[in-house]
Amino acid sequence: MHVLVCGGAGYVGSHACLALARAGHEVTVLDNLFAGHREAVRWGPLVEADILRPETLDAGFARRVDAVMHFCARSLVGESVTDPVAYYQNNVAGTLNLLETMRRHGVDRLVFSSTAAVFGNPVSDVIDEEHPKDPINPYGASKLMVERILADAAAAYGLRSVALRYFNAAGAAADEGIGESHEPETHLIPNALKAAAGAGAGLKVFGNDYPTRDGTCVRDYVHVLDLADAHLRALDWMDREPGAHRFNLGNGNGFSVLEVIEAARRVTGHDIPYEIAPRRAGDPPVLVASSALAREKLGWTPKYDRIEPIIETAWAWHRAPAF
Ligand code: UDP
Repeated sequence: MHVLVCGGAGYVGSHACLALARAGHEVTVLDNLFAGHREAVRWGPLVEADILRPETLDAGFARRVDAVMHFCARSLVGESVTDPVAYYQNNVAGTLNLLETMRRHGVDRLVFSSTAAVFGNPVSDVIDEEHPKDPINPYGASKLMVERILADAAAAYGLRSVALRYFNAAGAAADEGIGESHEPETHLIPNALKAAAGAGAGLKVFGNDYPTRDGTCVRDYVHVLDLADAHLRALDWMDREPGAHRFNLGNGNGFSVLEVIEAARRVTGHDIPYEIAPRRAGDPPVLVASSALAREKLGWTPKYDRIEPIIETAWAWHRAPAF
């Protein structure tokens, strides 16, 4: 297949390109390089275009596209609270532009990056697809709006789609020259690794008064290559199944912020100094996935089911980042 990977210069998108290339697919990357990296585009040509400028998107469809993977998004929970309009504009209006362009070019398959943030504060220990969707930040709300749009587009235009709700993406394919590189970096694992290396502004733990086992937030960390693998499986799924589908992607194991810091200390062999800081706006206490549906329907089994090997791959990238 020829797959147009929108946002393929970014963290999850570049790993999806690697997985597509390994599986023998052809890749074209469409990216505005706002947060993505030119150096991460290694498995196909780059079309510099922006989903907020619809007139630029046709260039991505110059060759017949069989399916689109859509990773373009603003994705920081805290920033979405302080600048919601940017989030709705990019994540919702930008996606509408992309859908409209796909329709004009007769492309009817889409894998969409969604998020655990669509659920808001969990009302059960483990979150499956049926869990109520009640996002508590504009980031999650913007992704949930797109899920709804995809369901309507399936009914009206026959668009086939799979929304994959990532829990916490982590790790890297450092041996392939790609990994996580955000500026500023806001995510826990890279920030803990910076602190282990004696770099960065000092690690802060956002809140230790949550109703969790040690008071810090619990998250489900899933390796970015396992996420990429789910995208390949979603392509196969859409061949067989019309309609709009959603799957939760996580390992099903929750780790608190302090447990992640301890695991990073074990992996790196370095002390990780941190200070307790106020809660970050928009953070639910616990987000842990049930991925039973993805396992059953997509045949997806995460290869990295423990936190240490995930952190090891992130550490390999951190010590020798290619960009
Ligand atoms: N976190 C933290 N210090 C940091 C970065 C994150 O304490 O420097 C916490 C954050 O409040 C959340 C968890 O770590 O509870 C995971 O946050 P991250 O930004 O990595 O991912 P998110 O859950 O927002 O997608």
